[in-house]
Amino acid sequence: MTSRFAYVRPGSLHEAVTRLAAPGSHALSGGTDLLGCLRDRVLSATTVVSLADLVELRGIAERPDGSLRIGALTTLAEIASHARIHERYTVLAQGARAAASPQLRNQGTLGGNLCQRPRCWYFRGDFPCARKGGDVCYAMAGENELHAIFGGAGCYIVHPSDTAPPLVALEARARIAGAEGDRTVSLDDFFVLPSQDVSRENVLRPGELVVEVLLPKPAADSRSLYRKVRARGAWDFALAGVALVLQVSSGLVTRARIVLAGVAPAPWRAVKAEAALIGRGLDRATAAEVAAVAAEGAEPLDGNGYKVDLVRGVVEEALLALA
Ligand SMILES: Cc1cc2nc3c(=O)[nH]c(=O)nc-3n(C[C@H](O)[C@H](O)[C@H](O)COP(=O)(O)OP(=O)(O)OC[C@H]3O[C@@H](n4cnc5c(N)ncnc54)[C@H](O)[C@@H]3O)c2cc1C
Ligand code: SF4
Repeated sequence: MTSRFAYVRPGSLHEAVTRLAAPGSHALSGGTDLLGCLRDRVLSATTVVSLADLVELRGIAERPDGSLRIGALTTLAEIASHARIHERYTVLAQGARAAASPQLRNQGTLGGNLCQRPRCWYFRGDFPCARKGGDVCYAMAGENELHAIFGGAGCYIVHPSDTAPPLVALEARARIAGAEGDRTVSLDDFFVLPSQDVSRENVLRPGELVVEVLLPKPAADSRSLYRKVRARGAWDFALAGVALVLQVSSGLVTRARIVLAGVAPAPWRAVKAEAALIGRGLDRATAAEVAAVAAEGAEPLDGNGYKVDLVRGVVEEALLALA
């Protein structure tokens, strides 16, 4: 049963960030994650601040310099079916399409998808774990099949978003509004690892919200792809996945961004694998070698060693699919 909270629907960005700065306030976009968290008492709220009337958060627009802005209230379905996004930022359209179910994609927004809370079953259950302010990670010695193999330190969540790895691969930036003013943050720096702060998943300060995401104009010789492995055919979070953005000239890779999904508390850049790809052609031997490098450094828990093989397999497949 959800505890009582006030519901407000500000008509301006200024009013929204002022409301959100009050302790116990939460932003509401599509509600597909927030309402479940409130119902299950994962979070408590004194005030829920609906973003529905904020025109600044709406719309997809190409800018004169060839970059693209996507308002935070844009639904995943709109992104998945947008012809320009599909053509120029294929990896993002594929990521949005791979998320959740058609109903959830119609309701869920980009801002909410980036800021959704972790799916760790202890976090979602009645366990006072480290992420909730306790001093124990129950997953470490417990049920950890779906948890992180990279970047866990006292907390082993995986970031649940299927749009975040594509946006990191595309070198996107987020415009953030807050009571103290606006700032723009690279998606590379937006997500927070447990070693930085175990209590939150991103750099948003109390009162701040994501207004829009900005994508640079893609290079003429770039190609991209998102691939996700899940336990069921649909409706499921990634066990492992990869967002790839490559520039290929005369058959050789000149620039690479390889970002893993479903295996770390934040989208996880496979930086050594990116470097290993530069100057190489996309043949079978290179794909296998680079995929092995992408899985290097994994630190599986008792139940999730299979994810190391999944990373290797999904990266190899994705590279060959882009060849
Ligand atoms: C059964 C199920 C399966 C799912 N499977 C997947 C999946 O495979 N892949 C995937 O990526 N997702 C999956 N999801 C998650 C789903 O995509 C998210 O719930 C949805 O994208 C969140 O968007 P929303 O607009 O409904 O967010 P809300 O529920 O409104 O908000 C989510 C969180 O983000 C905050 N927030 C919302 N908007 C903003 C903003 N503009 N700025 C700052 N903070 C904000 C809220 O305060 C809240 O904490 C699944 C969800 C369910 C229930
Ligand atoms: S993985 Fe993180 S969220 Fe899950 S039990 Fe451990 S500390 Fe809590």
